[in-house]
Amino acid sequence: MLQIDSLEELKKWADKRRCDATQKLALVPTMGYLHEGHLSLVKEAKAHTNGGLCAVSIFVNPAQFNDAEDLDKYPRNLEGDLEKLEEAGVDLVFTPNVREVYPHGAAKIVMDYPSLTNKLCGITRPGHFSGVLLIVHNLFLWFQPDYAIFGEKDYQQLLLIRKMTTELALPVEVIAAPIIREKEGLAMSSRNARLNDDDRKEALAIFEALALAGETLEKAPNGFQTNGGEIISEINSQMIERLKVAKRLKVEYAGLYNPETLEPLTPGQPLQPQKALAAIAAFVGEVRLIDNMLIEPR
Ligand code: AMP
Repeated sequence: MLQIDSLEELKKWADKRRCDATQKLALVPTMGYLHEGHLSLVKEAKAHTNGGLCAVSIFVNPAQFNDAEDLDKYPRNLEGDLEKLEEAGVDLVFTPNVREVYPHGAAKIVMDYPSLTNKLCGITRPGHFSGVLLIVHNLFLWFQPDYAIFGEKDYQQLLLIRKMTTELALPVEVIAAPIIREKEGLAMSSRNARLNDDDRKEALAIFEALALAGETLEKAPNGFQTNGGEIISEINSQMIERLKVAKRLKVEYAGLYNPETLEPLTPGQPLQPQKALAAIAAFVGEVRLIDNMLIEPR
């Protein structure tokens, strides 16, 4: 496995690869502290290139942190990450430092898609998605990959990256990979490393509330139209009630949303597409967790 930490070197590697592009390249952007969720993206990447090249970037991107303490406490373990990637058969890992990525200091350019960035996580994390889109855009330019793999765990991020790629006509195919969970259901996240055993029990309520939403809808005879659409309010209340049981959870948002517009679902509204995004963001102590589930009636 080749490890590159200089941007100059990465660009040379990418140019050379493009000149004799007999092999497809798939990129998996990450912030490191890798877990099975990240490794599932690597597997997906390898499956898509069909024996081609798989590259992973590890960069804790300051531009997407709107809270200095969160950035400071973000877990890191480069040595462990490199071992995992080597074992997973990754060809190239890009591990730049902040100066390499932002040689002119903190980025001032703003990347926005207002109708989506002003929803869900964007409400409490101003500037977060601008930072995400900027780094992903730049990684696409530098690597020039054929495919880029992103997890559905960060659903809003995935949606925004798709919009950016389409509207800027970036020649990259964005591929979504499903959420990988721990045995009990907690979505894997690098931030889980900051949870103790009690925190984990509290955090499990997030998955349980999402699963409950799925089960209720599954049993509803007329899907979203059950009880004249009131099923939507019922599910929202059920989710909130389940989350309340975890006394130390501080819920930021929870409920059913339109998976394309991220608007909250409301009874009576015609549902296009016939799916709902059940989504939750909540703090356990100082650790902010997000999770979601795409649910559809039987
Ligand atoms: P991060 O390192 O948290 O920025 O995540 C890097 C990529 O891994 C993103 O595309 C995430 O959506 C994805 N990812 C993170 N956690 C999971 C998970 N539990 N299952 C699937 N993908 C994930």
